[in-house]
Amino acid sequence: MTKTGLVWFRNDLRIHDQVSLVKASKENSFVMAVYCFDPRHFEKDRFGFVRTEKYRAQFLIETVTELQDQLNALNIPLFVHVGKPEEIIPEYVKIHNITSVYLQKEWTSEEVAIANNVKKALSSEIHWIESYDQFLFHPEDIPMTIDKIPQVFTVFRKKCEKYAKVRAMETISKMPEKNRVTHLTKVPTLKDLGLSKIHKDTRTAFPFKGGEKAGLQRLEDYAWNTKKLSYYKKTRNGLVGTDYSSKFSAWLANGSLSPRMIYHEVKKYESEIVKNQSTYWMIFELIWRDFFKYISLKHGNDIFKLEGILQTPYEWSSDVKLIQQWIDGETAEPFVNANMLEIKHTGWMSNRGRQNVASYFARTLKLDWRIGAAYFESQLIDYDVHSNYGNWLYVSGVGNDPRNRTFNVKLQAERYDASNKFQNLWLQTSLF
Ligand code: FAD
Repeated sequence: MTKTGLVWFRNDLRIHDQVSLVKASKENSFVMAVYCFDPRHFEKDRFGFVRTEKYRAQFLIETVTELQDQLNALNIPLFVHVGKPEEIIPEYVKIHNITSVYLQKEWTSEEVAIANNVKKALSSEIHWIESYDQFLFHPEDIPMTIDKIPQVFTVFRKKCEKYAKVRAMETISKMPEKNRVTHLTKVPTLKDLGLSKIHKDTRTAFPFKGGEKAGLQRLEDYAWNTKKLSYYKKTRNGLVGTDYSSKFSAWLANGSLSPRMIYHEVKKYESEIVKNQSTYWMIFELIWRDFFKYISLKHGNDIFKLEGILQTPYEWSSDVKLIQQWIDGETAEPFVNANMLEIKHTGWMSNRGRQNVASYFARTLKLDWRIGAAYFESQLIDYDVHSNYGNWLYVSGVGNDPRNRTFNVKLQAERYDASNKFQNLWLQTSLF
């Protein structure tokens, strides 16, 4: 009997090392795929920010456009819609006699609610196959249960480094036959999503395009072509230019790069070029990424609450003027302002910048950290729910920082921008 499977793509927008795709291709004669630009992701949030602003939306458009081509070459059509998955997917399942739906397993409440709505709209005979596919260390392979995830990163990291193994990569083969459906839907434009055009800012540290090919090219360039990976630990606190850090985050966030792929590439680099503190540190940072995913898996909706996972009752303000000054880069701190102008004009900010502006917002100005996190969610090209909320909790003193620090922004500027190169770039040059 011929069977048709449907892969519902969300934040797993790649063809390499993609568990749902591999499963679907092995278990069916035909595979088709759907991606929905969910209008709820482009609405305003409770603080008035558009949930996905133009920078990430453009990156996503580029990613989905390329995915459609890549899948087509594997004889898998990708249907792209602007609409709610719970309205679109059941239609495809009915029309094409789909017997199984494959998707990446998510656990944050909004994603779960939407998946449950889709599932409810399907006949109970449809096989619903969810797989965790965003981790470096698979949840079945870590040496602890989710309720025992340590509060302190170092404890988590050491246990994983000692006892967990990163799985081998999954490879998809071309489907033998073209699916009988050939008509492809069109990927929307920024305008279709209600967003304005991007004016390219030449100062950006993130000039890259979305899509799996660009992500793989970046990995190739950062490691093999330029060997910047060998110096990562020395440069990672930089602020200006494309190469002080890997910039993998945007592809990782929408799943167009797999963390296992980066890991295995670093291991290969270590055996063929050099194994040093920098190569180790790249994997160390990928473990941070996993840690925040596990923290959100453990604590559920507490990561979105004002008192955070520590339940600490601080006094928080929501002074509209102070918030607007922070957004517009008009605070009393030039270093904060330069970073805030960078994110406003490009959708990018370095890790050093993010730590400083978040600490200034939540700890110095004592503003409700969730508003700062929501602004980041709106602007960042690499927004990832777990990394964003996990880091904001951490910096705001309601998460996993055992030292509960406040950044001294002036000292940080002296240390990381001693020559004022970064501040001059954003505070003195005219736009575009
Ligand atoms: P590199 O330094 O090259 O690191 C390699 C990879 O390791 C990154 O791509 C990322 O996947 C991971 N990584 C590095 N640092 C962290 C970290 N602190 N937490 C989690 N993962 C890390 N990262 C996001 O991907 N999405 C977010 O929405 C996000 N929001 C943040 C908000 C705040 C307030 C702060 C302080 C940090 C946030 N980060 C977020 C983490 C970090 O700033 C970015 O991952 C990093 O700057 C991305 O640049 P890169 O890829 O060049 O990183």
